[in-house]
Amino acid sequence: MRLPIYLDNNSTTPLDPRVLEAMMPFLTEKFGNAASRSHAFGWETEEAVEKSRASIAKLIGANLKEIVFTSGATESINIALKGAAEMYSEKGNHIITAATEHKATLDSAKYLEKHGCTVTYLPVDKFGAVSPEQVKAAITDKTILISLMHANNEIGTIHPIEEIGKVAKEAGILFHVDAAQTAGKIPIDVEKMGIDILSISAHKMYGPKGVGGLYVRRTNPRVRLSPVVHGGGHERGFRSGTLNVAGIVGFGKAAELCSQEMAQEAVRVSALRDKLKNALFSQLDELFLNGDPIKRLPNNLNISFAFVEGEALMMGLKEVAVSSGSACTSASLEPSYVLKAMGVGEELAHTSIRFGLGRFTTAEEIDFVIEKVVGVVKKLRDMSPLYEMAKEGIDLKSVQWTTH
Ligand SMILES: *Cc1c(COP(=O)(O)O)cnc(C)c1O
Repeated sequence: MRLPIYLDNNSTTPLDPRVLEAMMPFLTEKFGNAASRSHAFGWETEEAVEKSRASIAKLIGANLKEIVFTSGATESINIALKGAAEMYSEKGNHIITAATEHKATLDSAKYLEKHGCTVTYLPVDKFGAVSPEQVKAAITDKTILISLMHANNEIGTIHPIEEIGKVAKEAGILFHVDAAQTAGKIPIDVEKMGIDILSISAHKMYGPKGVGGLYVRRTNPRVRLSPVVHGGGHERGFRSGTLNVAGIVGFGKAAELCSQEMAQEAVRVSALRDKLKNALFSQLDELFLNGDPIKRLPNNLNISFAFVEGEALMMGLKEVAVSSGSACTSASLEPSYVLKAMGVGEELAHTSIRFGLGRFTTAEEIDFVIEKVVGVVKKLRDMSPLYEMAKEGIDLKSVQWTTH
């Protein structure tokens, strides 16, 4: 077993060696520009790009003509929101999203608010989910887009996308889904789920960083989006710029592997996750699970360890790479906005740790992590007067704290 152990797969995943192998020729001898139509160097890379497009389309039940390559889910989400807002500005200016979305969505929405859009940020329930009824109630005659994540990157909660898709269809409103956490992890079918636009990222599914995809429905309805990046009209005008061929080939290989292995992998990884969860909950008290107990990503576990500072816990867990709060906001000391939106108090939010398991996580690693976490939490609590008071039955809320 190699240390440190990587348990931050909701942040990024390692490249699968089979993906690297598929990419290598395109980083060396096969260097042609996929847009070069006049010679064999271009033809061979174009063919490889189209093969990848087909693999990605297959993973989400789409047609290959509906896949646009981008630099990642952040860019895809920007195109979905800004592109729809501009293209459909005659129809309306209202967008519906949720308070717990990824910053790529929230910051794009904020930008659009400065440019004439109105945005509804739906609140979430205690498990971090929005309901189809909430979405329906938020629709106005000016609504042009509903944008929600399939599963949350911090707490793993999976949204009822198919039901929300039905609401969107009935109202004739475009539905964009941020599937960065779910593509290649759990099944996605854009037809069955009524999705019109979908954002995905290669590096969350054992592919390379800096490449992603945007699904744009071509029939029933035919979705149009104004481009964000202008240039040579690549990718049917949705996203100009010379294609990252090696990255796209890796993305395609990653999608192919996920299509083949996703079902068994979800069973194996969720069993390890459940083992970790059950062991921690049986050996420690005052733990709180964040996110939905059932409707959650197979690889995600998020726990608040009351009376333990999340940062101190992470310091004690040097051999285990996890994140406290969101990976994307861990540079700040603000508690996670996702936990806040779910109604988790500031105290408990600060004690939260996200464990993100993955394809390469082993049973041996999980055993090590259980032993480490239990040991560190017990040690920190032994030094905590608050924990001691709570155990003596003192209601901490009744204590009169003096400040200087
Ligand atoms: C990682 C992630 C993104 C951003 O993807 P990048 O490819 O890193 O830009 C967006 N949404 C969610 C839910 C994510 O997990």
